[in-house]
Amino acid sequence: MKVAKQLYQLQEVDLELESNEQALNQIASQLGESQAVVRAQAELKLEHQRLEELKREQHSAEWEIDDLITKLATAEEKLYSGSIRNPKELTNLQHDVDGLKARRNQLEDETLETMNQVELATASVASIGTKLKKLEVEWHNQQQQLSTDMKQLQTILSDLKHKRQQLSTKIDPIAVEFYHELKKQKGTAVAKIEQGICCGCRISLSTAELQQARSDSLVHCSSCGRILFLV
Ligand SMILES: [Zn+2]
Repeated sequence: MKVAKQLYQLQEVDLELESNEQALNQIASQLGESQAVVRAQAELKLEHQRLEELKREQHSAEWEIDDLITKLATAEEKLYSGSIRNPKELTNLQHDVDGLKARRNQLEDETLETMNQVELATASVASIGTKLKKLEVEWHNQQQQLSTDMKQLQTILSDLKHKRQQLSTKIDPIAVEFYHELKKQKGTAVAKIEQGICCGCRISLSTAELQQARSDSLVHCSSCGRILFLV
């Protein structure tokens, strides 16, 4: 086989290797923690803390209301029992009862508002929880798909490396070295000839160059320097 053809085949394998390696790197960068999941977890934690805080507030207000009701019952019992006859004492007691009632009413209003907030926060926790679950399922599926793709790519890459190894051992080592040098300089080392044109630089080749390319020797494009390969 002509050296140019062998090098062209080597180049085809190298291009395939590069594109698969790129795909593998792309996958590797997508593996791992999901920012969306982490954000939703943090959001859920905060909302949960807020809900617990509101519940504590509600319970403490409810205990205070119970306490006020007991105090109020005792004060009213005393007030209406007829046991106190001193007008000043009676006025003071009435004043206490009024104060306790006002505080109870105020606390009851506040508790209603807190209960409303507890209801809203409970709904919010549930909704963030649902969102988080969905994100986690999506993330899990994506990670599984990525792992599968990764394994496939690793197999392809290993096959390609093996193929490259086999190919390069059959080629003259000096030509391979030449190929690497050109590849480093120009990205691609071997250029096909199509309709008398070098596909590396799109320049029309001379008759002499075309004739040389038909022979077994290694010919370079006089314009771009790439190894010419006539199909
Ligand atoms: Zn050229």
